[in-house]
Amino acid sequence: MYVSNILHFLDESGNIQKDTPSDFQEMAKSLAEFVNYATDPDVGFYDPRPYCFAIINNKRCDGKIAPVISLADENIYWDCLTCGSAGVITHWQNTFWDLSNNDDFH
Ligand SMILES: [Zn+2]
Repeated sequence: MYVSNILHFLDESGNIQKDTPSDFQEMAKSLAEFVNYATDPDVGFYDPRPYCFAIINNKRCDGKIAPVISLADENIYWDCLTCGSAGVITHWQNTFWDLSNNDDFH
């Protein structure tokens, strides 16, 4: 289970930290996409499900993920049916990828 405080991947201006290892960047980009997906009110109209970022047998997992916001704790939960990876994203509110204009979450 990946527990990711997305703020740990961002710099002071809210962008993904540069000059970090490529796997850090890949994971950060995926987490950002997960936040995008989970908070997008139009998500039912198209299918932009982001890819899993897990590395299985030296290859990136090609599973697609449909992250959701938990009504219980407001964290974003995701799991990959292809490789079994799962995780939770915290502190995503008000990041650049937060598309929810829902004040209840802020
Ligand atoms: Zn996977």
